[in-house]
Amino acid sequence: MRYRRILMKLSGGALAGEEGWGFAPQAIEHIADEVLDVHRMGVEVGIVVGGGNIFRGELGEQWGIERAEADNIGMLATVINGLMLRGALTARGEGSDVRVMTAIPINAVAEPYIRLRAINHLEHGRIIILVAGTGNPYVTTDYPAVQRALELRAEALLAAKNGVDGIYTADPRRNPAARRYRTIGYDTVIRQNLRALDQSAVLLARDHSLPVHVFDFDQAGAMRRICVGEDVGTVIADARDELV
Ligand code: UDP
Repeated sequence: MRYRRILMKLSGGALAGEEGWGFAPQAIEHIADEVLDVHRMGVEVGIVVGGGNIFRGELGEQWGIERAEADNIGMLATVINGLMLRGALTARGEGSDVRVMTAIPINAVAEPYIRLRAINHLEHGRIIILVAGTGNPYVTTDYPAVQRALELRAEALLAAKNGVDGIYTADPRRNPAARRYRTIGYDTVIRQNLRALDQSAVLLARDHSLPVHVFDFDQAGAMRRICVGEDVGTVIADARDELV
């Protein structure tokens, strides 16, 4: 086993159907199955979930809503997604204990995020879903994904993508000559402004040498394969660029 404790960044879009909005039950079941699969192998799993299937703060401007307010709406969207995931994980994983921890206190529906308590949950084999991002505006959930991974001493961040299986030299849908990176250095991602993750998140990962695996979540078993040490997707790391 390569990793014993991971943090997964799941975009809200992973819970949605084709159009990327709202919820699709099959998509949510797929997430639950993938997560429960690695959890049953004994991997400790934390999930930071986004809210893009409901609302993103960057839409605020065009909707005539001030950015900080729009970001609050986006953060609350992640709370809804977290509860939805908890529901699905609990229904499909008989007996599995799943906790939703929020950076914005909403005591009636979720636990507050407290670092040591989150670590304690992981040590007891509970799956934790971390919602409301950092609790502050002007970032997306990429940044707290890296931040929580570091805080919780996860060995890696798994950044799940829909329909793209890693980082390429060019857009593989437009350019058939595009090649996938097996490994890519943090500095290359930053210099080329590759949009696998927000720049601020990549910088934080770089400063603390956190490996970030970018992989296609639609491929069943991808998470398990990463955890056992197989070569899946692209890993952003303190390493030289290497193409597949
Ligand atoms: N957000 C925020 N602070 C945070 C995390 C998220 O303000 O620490 C807001 C921001 O508006 C963001 C939205 O929540 O657009 C939803 O998160 P994100 O865009 O990361 O969702 P994803 O694209 O991953 O589904």
